[in-house]
Amino acid sequence: MYYSKKNVEPVPEEQTSIWSCSSEDCSCWMRENLTFEKTPSCPLCQSSMVINTKMLPPLMYHTR
Ligand SMILES: [Zn+2]
Repeated sequence: MYYSKKNVEPVPEEQTSIWSCSSEDCSCWMRENLTFEKTPSCPLCQSSMVINTKMLPPLMYHTR
């Protein structure tokens, strides 16, 4: 986990690595740390996915 100390904001979210669909028509994305494949393909449209970041609340109590 990486926390940026120089840019602290009072929101309970952190910059999270995600995979986002490379198709412009598709808004599918998934958390990188919940993905077990190195290069996943989109479950909706089967396009390749690109690594990205998104502000998300931390997954602290999720055990699934
Ligand atoms: Zn897609």
